[in-house]
Amino acid sequence: AAMREARTKKTKTVCTYCGVGCSFDIWTKDRHILKVEPADGAANGISTCVKGKFAWDFVNADDRLTSPLIREGDKFRKASWDEALKLIASKFTEYKNQFGPDALGFIASSKCTNEESYLMQKLARAVIGTNSVDNCSRYCQTPATMGLSRTVGYGGDSGSITDIYKAGLVLIVGSNTSESHPVLATRVKQAHKLNGQRLIVADLREHEMARRADIYFSPKPSTDMVWLSAVTRYILDNGLAKMDFVDRWVNGFEEYRKSLEPFTMEHAESVTGISAETLRTVAHEVAKADGVCILWAMGVTQHCGGSDTSTAISNLLLITGNYMRPGAGAYPLRGHNNVQGASDFGSMPNYYSGYQKVEDDSVREKFEKAWGVKLPTNKGLDNHQMVDAIHEGKLKSVYLKGEDMITSDSNANYVGSALEKLEFFVVQDIVFSETARYANVVLPASPSLEKEGTFTSTERRIQRLYRAMEPLGESHPDWQIIQMVANALGAEWKYEHPSQIMAEVASLTPLFAGVTYERLEGYKTLQWPVAADGSDQPLLFTKSFPFPDGKAKLYPLEYVPPSEKLDSEYDLHLNNGRLLEHFEQGSMTYRSEGIREITPNSFLEVSPELASERGLESGRWVQLKSRDGQIKVQVLVTDRVHGKQLYMPMNTVEEPVNRLTSSNTDRATHTPAFKETAVQMRVLPDL
Ligand code: SF4
Repeated sequence: AAMREARTKKTKTVCTYCGVGCSFDIWTKDRHILKVEPADGAANGISTCVKGKFAWDFVNADDRLTSPLIREGDKFRKASWDEALKLIASKFTEYKNQFGPDALGFIASSKCTNEESYLMQKLARAVIGTNSVDNCSRYCQTPATMGLSRTVGYGGDSGSITDIYKAGLVLIVGSNTSESHPVLATRVKQAHKLNGQRLIVADLREHEMARRADIYFSPKPSTDMVWLSAVTRYILDNGLAKMDFVDRWVNGFEEYRKSLEPFTMEHAESVTGISAETLRTVAHEVAKADGVCILWAMGVTQHCGGSDTSTAISNLLLITGNYMRPGAGAYPLRGHNNVQGASDFGSMPNYYSGYQKVEDDSVREKFEKAWGVKLPTNKGLDNHQMVDAIHEGKLKSVYLKGEDMITSDSNANYVGSALEKLEFFVVQDIVFSETARYANVVLPASPSLEKEGTFTSTERRIQRLYRAMEPLGESHPDWQIIQMVANALGAEWKYEHPSQIMAEVASLTPLFAGVTYERLEGYKTLQWPVAADGSDQPLLFTKSFPFPDGKAKLYPLEYVPPSEKLDSEYDLHLNNGRLLEHFEQGSMTYRSEGIREITPNSFLEVSPELASERGLESGRWVQLKSRDGQIKVQVLVTDRVHGKQLYMPMNTVEEPVNRLTSSNTDRATHTPAFKETAVQMRVLPDL
């Protein structure tokens, strides 16, 4: 028994799936995962969802990468690290010398640790000399960050997840919370059931939270900004605003008020299809609630007006005084485990770590001094612009880690033809992804259970993960690989442990000044901003907003109709999103057997009305065609969707929904408008 015990190991880790950031102990024996046991995580207490509990088999998947691969013609052959690194260094140097540093692009991963995001941008900026570095929050949550930066300064949740319980009203817009952020949704369900909390849901799809809501409504696609602004105007017009808060804490009131002129209830009714009566009721509920938390996700952000709708949410919260107190504020729900951290730690084309601007001379000088190099002054390309730049022949080489671009970026055909044009492409991942097929060199990385580091969850909570098992084969943690690449290029980095990377970040980044590994030991956590003395801020705004005079800003907006229009040829609207059991395109969850058995493939949700109009029943195959591509998929008839709305989970590799989505993007951030897709549907003959 003592022997058995000795080989059984308990390791504290943080879930590798969604942004809720559940912490738990994982019991292993060698490479076998025995059980997952939540101790008392800051966000999750003793809960996890099905993914956190069971979806770990991927660490032992047959197709885990265990050595570097180098392309030879149409095939890949195994290579030594030495050979792979030499090839990368010589190619990166060649392109840099021939075309300048901006001929190279770097894409970090929202699945990797904070320290790894920091090193990726340091490699791009300090070793290569380009600001073209980004991460996949560009595909999801950057518009939320933009909306909040415009109004309250920081793009982060206003309070803790546990604070949501204290709100008088929770308003959920464009978020399938119970499937995408399950443990957080449980808190809302409990507060609604046991604490008298009111729940309002606005979503195209009648999912579980919509069915539980006191008020549910389904505005026409891409019109949330209109009803949010109309509700705000109604609150102001009827003397229901918290003017003492506005007067004390907010700039720009007069100009903003003028900008609301077009947003009458009648206008909102005609644009959104929601009755003025319903919207008036919503306005009264919001105005009278003792604390309002607004939760939103990709149903808001993945539109051409994603940043504007996020801004409208924040404007409404300001007008109703719903900042600076627990149980109130903005809760953009981050998708991946480390969407928050990947941006926080500087993998963005316009920011160093802690949202310090690359164009700010004093910031740049600080980093130049610390890193001992001259740094680029121009803003870099984001990952959407990188795809265009490849097509234009300006970007020659890309280093991508932990991201399956070909299935997760919009307009897969356009992305695929760009990747084919790349002259030298390095893909670093834990498995041989669809995107790896386009690579020249593939580097084997280690998943979270095989490394140390920190993740930052949606509530700005920084948490440590510890190594539960050794890296498989010759794979290495991403931070070590990035360091090897940097050193092959002539840098002399000497990080021996991620704690040293964090110490460097803390010394250069006011937002993380007091973050140390000691302060994050075990289950201890910190929510940024963290002052030098180690005090953190569960409530983001306490004494001021991060603008020169300490006041927030109201941001005037105009409504711009959606880019993709329905017409007689493309007559159906296609929405897409997550499933409880899977994550993103399923690269990890499809490699977890139990999960694959429950939900083996994707499907297309069709409303009963449309099914009867087209003579469809569940299980029938249809062809969907958009202006950008086509796929085949099996139908599931359900009343979760209405009328001409279709919904397809994004979790499939064989026929990804992104063959249909377009290259249209959010106007302010270039986040793809994944949720604005017009399609036609053709019923296929019975197979
Ligand atoms: Fe992981 Fe999110 Fe589930 Fe928590 S709610 S266990 S973080 S997937």
